[in-house]
Amino acid sequence: MTATATRVLVLNSGSSSVKYQLLDMRDGARLAAGLVERIGEGTSRLAHTPLATGGEKRETEGAMADHEAALKAVAAELAADGLGLDSPQLAAIGHRVVHGGLEFTEPTVIDDAVLEEIERLVPLAPLHNPANITGIRTARALRPDLPQVAVFDTAFHTTMPEHAARYAIDVATADRHRIRRYGFHGTSHAYVSRKTAALLGKDPSEVNVIVLHLGNGASASAVAGGRCVDTSMGLTPLEGLVMGTRSGDIDPAVTFHLKRVAGMSEDEVDELLNKKSGLIGLCGDNDMREIRRRIDAGGEDGERARLAFDVYIHRLKKYLGAYSAVLGRVDAVAFTAGVGENAAPLREAAIAGLEEMGMAVDADLNDRRSDEPRLISPEYARVAVAVVPTDEELEIAQQTYALVSA
Ligand code: ADP
Repeated sequence: MTATATRVLVLNSGSSSVKYQLLDMRDGARLAAGLVERIGEGTSRLAHTPLATGGEKRETEGAMADHEAALKAVAAELAADGLGLDSPQLAAIGHRVVHGGLEFTEPTVIDDAVLEEIERLVPLAPLHNPANITGIRTARALRPDLPQVAVFDTAFHTTMPEHAARYAIDVATADRHRIRRYGFHGTSHAYVSRKTAALLGKDPSEVNVIVLHLGNGASASAVAGGRCVDTSMGLTPLEGLVMGTRSGDIDPAVTFHLKRVAGMSEDEVDELLNKKSGLIGLCGDNDMREIRRRIDAGGEDGERARLAFDVYIHRLKKYLGAYSAVLGRVDAVAFTAGVGENAAPLREAAIAGLEEMGMAVDADLNDRRSDEPRLISPEYARVAVAVVPTDEELEIAQQTYALVSA
């Protein structure tokens, strides 16, 4: 790497999509960002925003048969802005990898052996890791000389103590099949817990934080002195909070019942719990804005939306209570991601009635809109309640750059 190489390309490869951002690590500035959708589905779409020049978003449509075609198209867009993958200023490519199992506790420079390890984890994340691997292979083929780093969604949670990570099932069976609680959204939980400490003017080692990452997927984590001690997602991202389309915690016997009594197949149960449950299952909508609109409009439809909202809030409160007990002392609760950052009524409802636990929300502070980390609790509250926008791409870029510039 040359001394002038200060840029990192962050790639988040899904099964039919690639999201990317190019950042300059001298100041974290975003030079370009974009998204390719519907890869391998006939007409693919690439939306590219050249942020460095302040140019307009450019959208192109065309057939992109696979990730290689998609990445080549991305590379061409970047090159058109003078930011091509062949630029000597590019220091590394950082890849988001969903599952790192117990093997990967830190961001890791990718070589053939690392790639093989990530492949061995495919049975644990059959929907995600294969797409991540394809993204890595393609990027390596385009720039074989450039360091490529894998940043794992599970890594931050590998500090969970054994008693939090274990399911109470037969140990031999669990170990044979690597069944345990891994947790996800780790990059976000790491970033937000650190930012929350900074907001309080403290070092992460001095504070205990409950992070509520509430996006379409949602998870909570208990972070003690900068280390994750519990998180709500488990073997897969299905466990825990009520989400946009996932049920979160559920009696596992419901799945036996769905098969034995309702006659559903394995795949149908999977689809029901992952795609047709949560908010969308409860009221037909998974967007919190639409749910609030229906509640405000009232009537029978509003009641259905209200029930979904209430189930969501009830689960959140249970996790706030559980993680307060796990941590013993809570210094801060941080709301983040699409719902957590934007839905003020939801934050108010989640914290309402928790004064005895030292938690309260100031209505005016809560309603104020900002892109900056901010406190929304009144001064008298023992626990700081905060809104802390997450930035997974920046975190991936920083971890990648730290590794390759060390
Ligand atoms: P993902 O899990 O897909 O990364 P995001 O973190 O982007 O999700 O969150 C998307 C969700 O955020 C939407 O489904 C919607 O429920 C919620 N959301 C976004 N903007 C608002 C808003 N202004 N008010 C309430 N909810 C919002």
